[in-house]
Amino acid sequence: MFFYSTRDKNNHKTVSQAILQGLAEDGGLFVPEYFPQINWAELDPQLSYPQFAAKILADYFKGDELESQLGEICQNAFNFPLPVKQLNDNTYVMELFQGPTLSFKDFGARFLAECMTRLSKNRKTTIIVATSGDTGSAVASAFHQKSNVDVVVMFPKGQISQRQEKQITCWGDNILAVAVEGTFDDCQKIVKQAFSDEWWKSRAHLSSANSINIARLLPQLTYYAYTSWQFQLAHNEPAAYIIPTGNVGNSTAAFWAKAMGFPIREIALATNANRVISDYIAQGKFEPKASIATIANAMDVGNPSNFERLSYLFNTWDNFKANVQAISVNDQQIREVIQAINSQYNYVVCPHTATAYFARQQLSPQKWIMVATAAPSKFETVIEPIIQTKLAVPEQLQILLDKPQYLVETQADIKQVQQALANKA
Ligand SMILES: *Cc1c(COP(=O)(O)O)cnc(C)c1O
Repeated sequence: MFFYSTRDKNNHKTVSQAILQGLAEDGGLFVPEYFPQINWAELDPQLSYPQFAAKILADYFKGDELESQLGEICQNAFNFPLPVKQLNDNTYVMELFQGPTLSFKDFGARFLAECMTRLSKNRKTTIIVATSGDTGSAVASAFHQKSNVDVVVMFPKGQISQRQEKQITCWGDNILAVAVEGTFDDCQKIVKQAFSDEWWKSRAHLSSANSINIARLLPQLTYYAYTSWQFQLAHNEPAAYIIPTGNVGNSTAAFWAKAMGFPIREIALATNANRVISDYIAQGKFEPKASIATIANAMDVGNPSNFERLSYLFNTWDNFKANVQAISVNDQQIREVIQAINSQYNYVVCPHTATAYFARQQLSPQKWIMVATAAPSKFETVIEPIIQTKLAVPEQLQILLDKPQYLVETQADIKQVQQALANKA
């Protein structure tokens, strides 16, 4: 199995090469040359989630140096529960937030860390990542104390929630947390500069951990595959998902699971006030915009980086429109939904997950599974005033909140970040 660049079919790599590289040289994103067709009806219903994941990902790793280790990679990465709960007659919630940092990013970050650590046995790797929220904590947690890998996580100082900051800065060891005096875009700019900077490139293999990396997408398709299969076995009908969407990584993974033949009826995207996808569906033109700040901040994306993978999959606007629906939800609607679900079902959702419930009410009365992307306890400052109740703090969060903080502060200047890394080593 090879992976191609979305911009050049002749640019093909094995999965390990694609993981190490992140982005293709031509600026495109890696996609699989074909989608293996899985005969799910013949799978043993007793398979554990990690066993199931290793089985359905096997073809993507065929012939690759990681092939024989895929089972172990999945066992180590997916070591937390994946509950699907019923909310009412025709609405379910898939809770993707039971991992160590309480968002679905743990699935991708932990799988990437297992792969990257194995690929870094004989040489050092530096992972550099800019974050405005959940990616930074998931990546830091996943790579903490992995040998031969250093991680630099940059976040805009004072612009993320206290709990998010704590989850990024509580690690130490091989994790360098940098509070940058600037915006998320400044952090992102330093990442880009590092990739064309001799110091960074000569020091170690340089890689990134954001959702353009194929090792974050592949693990994400396994939870759609697994839960649609289980849903089909339990209800004798295919599953349908509503996915809170920003960079379109999570939703691309769902469409890939469908392309592999898993029993998925429909996939709907819920976005916040950043509505480039809805506008594309309505108008046929993809027009990236500056991002708008909302209370579902992990979805504040004006130029979704995985859009290129999704439009590659569907090829034309007509085909895209026929397969993808998107519903945009504003902050006021998000607040109302958080309130309504809590009072009707005694169930609390995070602001991102709330967009899925708003969308659910616009969609058909058929059965739908809402994708819950983060735990409400990460966003207590938004949620507690709405529901007028204190949220319980899950044990895995309390453990991180109780740890000391390790961080450095810098200006938005790559030389200062470089100095901080040099001082640490
Ligand atoms: C990252 C994130 C999203 C958006 O996911 P994409 O894959 O970027 O579309 C939604 N909700 C939460 C809580 C997130 O952390």
